[in-house]
Amino acid sequence: MKAYTELVRHGGNQRLFQAIEMSVLATQVNRPLHIHAEGARGTGKTTLFRAARDLLPLIQRIRGCRYNCHPLQPHCPEHFHLSPEEAAEIGIEQVPMPFWEISSGAEISTVAGSINVHNFPAAAHPGASILPGIIPRANRGILFIDDINQLAAASPAVMKIILEVMAAKPGRVQIEQSGLPTVQIPVQVSVWAASDPDGFPGPLERVCKTLIDCFDMVIRLGRPQERDIVQQLLQQSQVYRTNPRQVIFNDPLILLRQQQRKLRAVAGVFDQIRLSDALKNMIANIYLDFGLQSLRAVEAMELGSRLQAALQNRQQVQMADLAAIIPLILAHRVSLQTLEKVLAYLDYAQFIEARPTLPAKLEKTETHIST
Ligand SMILES: [Zn+2]
Repeated sequence: MKAYTELVRHGGNQRLFQAIEMSVLATQVNRPLHIHAEGARGTGKTTLFRAARDLLPLIQRIRGCRYNCHPLQPHCPEHFHLSPEEAAEIGIEQVPMPFWEISSGAEISTVAGSINVHNFPAAAHPGASILPGIIPRANRGILFIDDINQLAAASPAVMKIILEVMAAKPGRVQIEQSGLPTVQIPVQVSVWAASDPDGFPGPLERVCKTLIDCFDMVIRLGRPQERDIVQQLLQQSQVYRTNPRQVIFNDPLILLRQQQRKLRAVAGVFDQIRLSDALKNMIANIYLDFGLQSLRAVEAMELGSRLQAALQNRQQVQMADLAAIIPLILAHRVSLQTLEKVLAYLDYAQFIEARPTLPAKLEKTETHIST
Protein backbone atom coordinates (compact mmCIF):
# COMPACT_ATOMS: atom_id res chain seq x y z
CA MET A 1 0.00 0.00 0.00
CA LYS A 2 1.28 3.46 -0.89
CA ALA A 3 1.99 6.01 1.81
CA TYR A 4 -0.31 9.05 2.00
CA THR A 5 2.42 11.30 0.66
CA GLU A 6 3.01 9.01 -2.34
CA LEU A 7 -0.54 9.38 -3.67
CA VAL A 8 -0.83 11.72 -6.62
CA ARG A 9 -2.78 14.93 -6.07
CA HIS A 10 -4.69 16.13 -9.11
CA GLY A 11 -7.59 18.42 -9.92
CA GLY A 12 -10.08 15.59 -9.31
CA ASN A 13 -9.01 14.66 -5.76
CA GLN A 14 -7.26 17.77 -4.42
CA ARG A 15 -10.28 18.75 -2.31
CA LEU A 16 -10.43 15.33 -0.65
CA PHE A 17 -6.80 15.67 0.48
CA GLN A 18 -7.75 19.09 1.85
CA ALA A 19 -10.86 17.79 3.67
CA ILE A 20 -9.02 14.80 5.16
CA GLU A 21 -6.28 16.99 6.59
CA MET A 22 -8.90 19.33 8.04
CA SER A 23 -10.74 16.40 9.62
CA VAL A 24 -7.57 14.93 11.16
CA LEU A 25 -6.77 18.31 12.68
CA ALA A 26 -10.38 18.76 13.87
CA THR A 27 -10.41 15.32 15.55
CA GLN A 28 -7.13 16.13 17.23
CA VAL A 29 -8.64 19.29 18.79
CA ASN A 30 -11.81 17.39 19.84
CA ARG A 31 -14.12 18.94 17.26
CA PRO A 32 -15.17 16.10 14.94
CA LEU A 33 -15.62 16.91 11.25
CA HIS A 34 -17.65 14.43 9.22
CA ILE A 35 -16.75 14.11 5.54
CA HIS A 36 -18.29 12.19 2.64
CA ALA A 37 -16.51 11.53 -0.66
CA GLU A 38 -18.70 10.76 -3.65
CA GLY A 39 -17.18 9.45 -6.83
CA ALA A 40 -17.16 6.65 -9.36
CA ARG A 41 -15.09 3.48 -8.84
CA GLY A 42 -11.45 4.05 -9.63
CA THR A 43 -11.32 7.64 -8.42
CA GLY A 44 -9.16 6.46 -5.52
CA LYS A 45 -11.32 7.75 -2.64
CA THR A 46 -11.10 4.55 -0.57
CA THR A 47 -7.33 4.26 -1.08
CA LEU A 48 -6.89 7.85 0.00
CA PHE A 49 -9.03 7.47 3.15
CA ARG A 50 -7.15 4.32 4.20
CA ALA A 51 -3.75 5.86 3.46
CA ALA A 52 -4.67 8.83 5.65
CA ARG A 53 -4.12 6.56 8.67
CA ASP A 54 -0.48 7.54 8.19
CA LEU A 55 -1.34 11.08 9.25
CA LEU A 56 -3.03 10.20 12.54
CA PRO A 57 -1.26 11.40 15.67
CA LEU A 58 -0.87 9.62 19.02
CA ILE A 59 -3.45 10.21 21.73
CA GLN A 60 -3.26 9.74 25.49
CA ARG A 61 -5.72 7.44 27.21
CA ILE A 62 -6.22 5.64 30.50
CA ARG A 63 -4.04 2.54 30.23
CA GLY A 64 -5.79 -0.31 28.47
CA CYS A 65 -9.16 1.49 28.12
CA ARG A 66 -11.02 0.01 25.17
CA TYR A 67 -13.14 3.18 24.94
CA ASN A 68 -10.06 5.44 24.82
CA CYS A 69 -10.96 7.40 27.96
CA HIS A 70 -9.27 10.78 28.17
CA PRO A 71 -7.25 10.68 31.42
CA LEU A 72 -8.81 13.96 32.60
CA GLN A 73 -12.38 13.27 31.45
CA PRO A 74 -13.08 9.54 31.72
CA HIS A 75 -16.47 8.69 30.20
CA CYS A 76 -16.67 4.89 29.84
CA PRO A 77 -18.66 2.49 32.05
CA GLU A 78 -15.42 1.28 33.62
CA HIS A 79 -13.82 4.64 34.38
CA PHE A 80 -16.42 7.45 34.45
CA HIS A 81 -16.52 7.48 38.25
CA LEU A 82 -12.74 7.94 38.62
CA SER A 83 -11.14 11.18 39.79
CA PRO A 84 -8.09 12.35 37.80
CA GLU A 85 -5.88 11.03 40.63
CA GLU A 86 -7.51 7.59 40.52
CA ALA A 87 -7.18 7.56 36.73
CA ALA A 88 -3.49 8.46 37.05
CA GLU A 89 -3.04 5.52 39.39
CA ILE A 90 -4.17 3.11 36.66
CA GLY A 91 -1.65 4.77 34.38
CA ILE A 92 -1.68 6.70 31.13
CA GLU A 93 -0.51 5.41 27.76
CA GLN A 94 -0.03 6.78 24.27
CA VAL A 95 -1.73 4.97 21.41
CA PRO A 96 -2.29 5.82 17.75
CA MET A 97 -5.51 7.77 17.19
CA PRO A 98 -8.12 5.04 16.54
CA PHE A 99 -9.16 4.28 12.97
CA TRP A 100 -11.96 1.74 12.56
CA GLU A 101 -13.85 0.62 9.51
CA ILE A 102 -17.50 -0.44 9.22
CA SER A 103 -18.16 -2.72 6.27
CA SER A 104 -21.43 -2.77 4.36
CA GLY A 105 -22.32 -6.17 5.84
CA ALA A 106 -21.81 -5.07 9.47
CA GLU A 107 -24.19 -6.21 12.21
CA ILE A 108 -25.54 -4.21 15.14
CA SER A 109 -23.60 -6.13 17.78
CA THR A 110 -20.30 -5.61 15.94
CA VAL A 111 -20.99 -1.92 15.40
CA ALA A 112 -22.47 -0.89 18.78
CA GLY A 113 -21.40 -3.72 21.07
CA SER A 114 -22.99 -6.45 23.11
CA ILE A 115 -23.57 -7.40 26.72
CA ASN A 116 -22.15 -10.66 27.89
CA VAL A 117 -25.15 -12.34 29.53
CA HIS A 118 -23.16 -15.20 31.08
CA ASN A 119 -21.37 -12.92 33.48
CA PHE A 120 -24.45 -10.85 34.14
CA PRO A 121 -25.32 -9.49 36.63
CA ALA A 122 -21.88 -8.35 37.58
CA ALA A 123 -23.21 -5.50 39.67
CA ALA A 124 -19.91 -4.90 41.47
CA HIS A 125 -18.14 -4.23 38.17
CA PRO A 126 -20.79 -3.58 35.53
CA GLY A 127 -18.29 -2.61 32.79
CA ALA A 128 -16.83 -6.08 32.80
CA SER A 129 -19.87 -7.55 31.09
CA ILE A 130 -19.97 -5.12 28.15
CA LEU A 131 -18.17 -5.91 24.93
CA PRO A 132 -17.78 -2.56 23.15
CA GLY A 133 -18.31 -2.57 19.38
CA ILE A 134 -16.49 -0.64 16.67
CA ILE A 135 -18.13 2.74 17.39
CA PRO A 136 -17.32 3.06 21.11
CA ARG A 137 -13.79 1.82 20.36
CA ALA A 138 -13.33 4.47 17.67
CA ASN A 139 -13.91 7.19 20.27
CA ARG A 140 -11.58 10.20 19.79
CA GLY A 141 -10.63 8.90 16.36
CA ILE A 142 -11.94 8.11 12.91
CA LEU A 143 -14.78 5.86 11.80
CA PHE A 144 -14.53 4.97 8.11
CA ILE A 145 -17.54 3.63 6.18
CA ASP A 146 -16.83 2.53 2.63
CA ASP A 147 -19.87 2.23 0.31
CA ILE A 148 -22.09 3.97 2.85
CA ASN A 149 -25.02 3.99 0.40
CA GLN A 150 -24.90 0.18 0.27
CA LEU A 151 -24.82 -0.05 4.07
CA ALA A 152 -27.78 2.35 4.30
CA ALA A 153 -29.81 0.21 1.90
CA ALA A 154 -28.82 -3.14 3.42
CA SER A 155 -29.13 -2.26 7.08
CA PRO A 156 -31.30 0.70 8.15
CA ALA A 157 -30.87 -0.42 11.80
CA VAL A 158 -27.07 -0.01 11.65
CA MET A 159 -27.57 3.30 9.86
CA LYS A 160 -29.79 4.51 12.72
CA ILE A 161 -26.93 3.86 15.14
CA ILE A 162 -24.52 5.81 12.94
CA LEU A 163 -27.04 8.67 12.74
CA GLU A 164 -27.11 8.89 16.55
CA VAL A 165 -23.34 9.15 16.55
CA MET A 166 -23.37 11.97 14.00
CA ALA A 167 -26.52 13.83 15.06
CA ALA A 168 -24.81 15.64 17.94
CA LYS A 169 -21.25 16.45 18.92
CA PRO A 170 -20.49 14.46 21.00
CA GLY A 171 -22.82 11.76 19.75
CA ARG A 172 -23.79 8.61 21.62
CA VAL A 173 -24.10 4.91 21.12
CA GLN A 174 -26.54 2.57 22.86
CA ILE A 175 -25.73 -1.04 23.58
CA GLU A 176 -28.88 -3.06 23.91
CA GLN A 177 -29.68 -6.61 24.80
CA SER A 178 -33.26 -7.72 25.29
CA GLY A 179 -34.21 -8.10 28.93
CA LEU A 180 -31.26 -6.03 30.15
CA PRO A 181 -30.98 -2.29 30.85
CA THR A 182 -29.64 -0.28 27.91
CA VAL A 183 -26.10 1.06 28.22
CA GLN A 184 -25.49 4.51 26.77
CA ILE A 185 -21.97 5.74 26.01
CA PRO A 186 -20.94 9.16 24.65
CA VAL A 187 -18.70 9.04 21.57
CA GLN A 188 -16.68 11.68 19.82
CA VAL A 189 -15.64 10.49 16.36
CA SER A 190 -15.18 11.94 12.90
CA VAL A 191 -17.06 9.87 10.36
CA TRP A 192 -15.39 9.44 6.95
CA ALA A 193 -17.60 7.91 4.30
CA ALA A 194 -17.27 7.02 0.64
CA SER A 195 -19.85 6.09 -1.96
CA ASP A 196 -20.32 5.63 -5.67
CA PRO A 197 -23.50 7.54 -6.57
CA ASP A 198 -23.78 5.79 -9.93
CA GLY A 199 -23.57 2.27 -8.50
CA PHE A 200 -26.25 0.32 -6.62
CA PRO A 201 -28.35 1.60 -4.74
CA GLY A 202 -27.79 5.12 -6.07
CA PRO A 203 -26.74 8.36 -4.34
CA LEU A 204 -26.81 8.42 -0.53
CA GLU A 205 -29.32 11.29 -0.45
CA ARG A 206 -31.84 9.01 -2.13
CA VAL A 207 -31.23 6.11 0.28
CA CYS A 208 -31.00 8.01 3.57
CA LYS A 209 -31.96 11.67 3.29
CA THR A 210 -31.63 12.45 7.00
CA LEU A 211 -27.96 11.55 6.93
CA ILE A 212 -26.98 14.10 4.29
CA ASP A 213 -27.04 17.16 6.54
CA CYS A 214 -24.98 15.31 9.19
CA PHE A 215 -21.96 15.47 6.91
CA ASP A 216 -20.13 18.74 7.43
CA MET A 217 -18.42 18.46 4.07
CA VAL A 218 -19.12 16.56 0.87
CA ILE A 219 -16.43 16.16 -1.76
CA ARG A 220 -17.30 15.14 -5.30
CA LEU A 221 -14.36 13.43 -6.95
CA GLY A 222 -13.47 13.42 -10.59
CA ARG A 223 -11.09 11.21 -12.49
CA PRO A 224 -7.76 12.83 -13.18
CA GLN A 225 -8.02 14.73 -16.42
CA GLU A 226 -5.50 13.62 -18.99
CA ARG A 227 -4.19 17.15 -19.01
CA ASP A 228 -3.47 16.93 -15.24
CA ILE A 229 -1.39 13.81 -15.67
CA VAL A 230 0.57 15.15 -18.62
CA GLN A 231 1.22 18.38 -16.74
CA GLN A 232 2.47 16.48 -13.71
CA LEU A 233 4.80 14.34 -15.82
CA LEU A 234 6.20 17.43 -17.50
CA GLN A 235 6.71 19.09 -14.16
CA GLN A 236 8.50 16.03 -12.77
CA SER A 237 10.86 15.77 -15.73
CA GLN A 238 11.55 19.50 -15.47
CA VAL A 239 12.42 19.12 -11.76
CA TYR A 240 14.60 16.12 -12.63
CA ARG A 241 16.55 18.09 -15.20
CA THR A 242 17.15 21.02 -12.89
CA ASN A 243 17.54 19.13 -9.60
CA PRO A 244 17.84 15.34 -9.97
CA ARG A 245 18.67 14.89 -6.27
CA GLN A 246 15.23 16.21 -5.31
CA VAL A 247 13.49 13.52 -7.35
CA ILE A 248 15.78 10.66 -6.37
CA PHE A 249 15.86 11.52 -2.66
CA ASN A 250 12.21 12.49 -2.37
CA ASP A 251 11.53 9.98 0.41
CA PRO A 252 7.75 9.69 1.05
CA LEU A 253 8.41 8.80 4.69
CA ILE A 254 10.31 12.02 5.26
CA LEU A 255 7.48 13.97 3.67
CA LEU A 256 5.05 12.09 5.91
CA ARG A 257 6.98 12.96 9.06
CA GLN A 258 6.96 16.61 7.97
CA GLN A 259 3.20 16.49 7.48
CA GLN A 260 2.64 14.82 10.87
CA ARG A 261 4.85 17.41 12.56
CA LYS A 262 2.95 20.22 10.88
CA LEU A 263 -0.44 18.85 12.02
CA ARG A 264 0.85 18.43 15.58
CA ALA A 265 2.19 21.97 15.68
CA VAL A 266 -0.99 23.46 14.23
CA ALA A 267 -3.20 21.51 16.68
CA GLY A 268 -1.21 23.02 19.54
CA VAL A 269 -2.15 26.58 18.56
CA PHE A 270 -5.61 25.92 17.14
CA ASP A 271 -7.44 27.56 20.04
CA GLN A 272 -5.68 30.85 19.35
CA ILE A 273 -6.99 31.20 15.79
CA ARG A 274 -9.20 34.25 15.58
CA LEU A 275 -12.36 34.74 13.55
CA SER A 276 -13.24 38.44 13.24
CA ASP A 277 -16.73 39.81 13.94
CA ALA A 278 -16.92 40.87 10.29
CA LEU A 279 -16.45 37.27 9.14
CA LYS A 280 -18.90 35.95 11.76
CA ASN A 281 -21.42 38.45 10.39
CA MET A 282 -20.72 37.24 6.90
CA ILE A 283 -21.44 33.63 7.92
CA ALA A 284 -24.69 34.78 9.56
CA ASN A 285 -25.63 36.68 6.40
CA ILE A 286 -25.02 33.63 4.22
CA TYR A 287 -27.23 31.58 6.52
CA LEU A 288 -30.05 34.14 6.58
CA ASP A 289 -29.95 35.57 3.05
CA PHE A 290 -29.60 32.30 1.17
CA GLY A 291 -32.17 30.31 3.18
CA LEU A 292 -29.77 27.59 4.37
CA GLN A 293 -32.16 26.07 6.96
CA SER A 294 -29.34 24.20 8.63
CA LEU A 295 -27.50 25.44 11.69
CA ARG A 296 -25.03 22.61 11.11
CA ALA A 297 -23.93 24.46 7.98
CA VAL A 298 -23.20 27.53 10.12
CA GLU A 299 -21.12 25.48 12.57
CA ALA A 300 -19.30 23.83 9.68
CA MET A 301 -18.47 27.22 8.11
CA GLU A 302 -17.08 28.46 11.42
CA LEU A 303 -15.03 25.32 12.12
CA GLY A 304 -14.02 24.78 8.49
CA SER A 305 -12.67 28.30 7.97
CA ARG A 306 -10.66 28.09 11.21
CA LEU A 307 -9.20 24.73 10.11
CA GLN A 308 -8.35 26.10 6.68
CA ALA A 309 -6.62 29.13 8.24
CA ALA A 310 -4.71 26.85 10.63
CA LEU A 311 -3.46 24.64 7.80
CA GLN A 312 -2.32 27.78 5.94
CA ASN A 313 -0.35 28.77 9.07
CA ARG A 314 -2.51 31.81 9.70
CA GLN A 315 -3.60 33.01 13.13
CA GLN A 316 -6.45 35.08 11.78
CA VAL A 317 -9.14 33.63 9.51
CA GLN A 318 -9.36 35.46 6.19
CA MET A 319 -12.21 35.73 3.75
CA ALA A 320 -10.20 33.51 1.38
CA ASP A 321 -10.35 30.70 3.97
CA LEU A 322 -14.13 30.92 4.11
CA ALA A 323 -14.34 31.04 0.30
CA ALA A 324 -12.11 27.95 0.01
CA ILE A 325 -14.34 25.74 2.15
CA ILE A 326 -17.81 27.02 1.18
CA PRO A 327 -18.21 24.66 -1.82
CA LEU A 328 -17.47 21.64 0.40
CA ILE A 329 -20.03 22.73 2.98
CA LEU A 330 -22.83 23.91 0.73
CA ALA A 331 -22.69 21.68 -2.37
CA HIS A 332 -24.93 19.05 -0.74
CA ARG A 333 -27.17 21.53 1.03
CA VAL A 334 -28.21 24.05 -1.63
CA SER A 335 -28.81 24.11 -5.37
CA LEU A 336 -25.99 24.86 -7.76
CA GLN A 337 -27.49 28.28 -8.51
CA THR A 338 -27.58 29.19 -4.82
CA LEU A 339 -23.99 28.03 -4.38
CA GLU A 340 -22.95 30.21 -7.31
CA LYS A 341 -24.75 33.19 -5.75
CA VAL A 342 -23.03 32.62 -2.38
CA LEU A 343 -19.64 32.46 -4.12
CA ALA A 344 -20.42 35.63 -6.07
CA TYR A 345 -21.38 37.34 -2.79
CA LEU A 346 -18.03 36.30 -1.26
CA ASP A 347 -16.15 37.44 -4.38
CA TYR A 348 -17.78 40.83 -4.13
CA ALA A 349 -17.01 41.09 -0.41
CA GLN A 350 -13.41 40.11 -1.11
CA PHE A 351 -13.22 42.75 -3.82
CA ILE A 352 -14.53 45.44 -1.47
CA GLU A 353 -12.06 44.35 1.20
CA ALA A 354 -9.13 44.40 -1.22
CA ARG A 355 -10.00 47.79 -2.78
CA PRO A 356 -7.21 50.26 -2.03
CA THR A 357 -8.22 53.14 0.20
CA LEU A 358 -6.57 56.51 -0.22
CA PRO A 359 -4.84 58.02 2.78
CA ALA A 360 -6.86 60.90 4.27
CA LYS A 361 -4.21 63.52 3.41
CA LEU A 362 -4.08 62.61 -0.25
CA GLU A 363 -7.87 62.72 -0.48
CA LYS A 364 -7.83 66.24 0.94
CA THR A 365 -5.20 67.40 -1.52
CA GLU A 366 -7.24 65.99 -4.38
CA THR A 367 -10.34 67.79 -3.17
CA HIS A 368 -8.28 70.93 -2.96
CA ILE A 369 -7.06 70.58 -6.55
CA SER A 370 -10.47 69.88 -7.94
CA THR A 371 -12.03 72.90 -6.27
ZN1 LIG B 1 -12.37 4.07 30.09
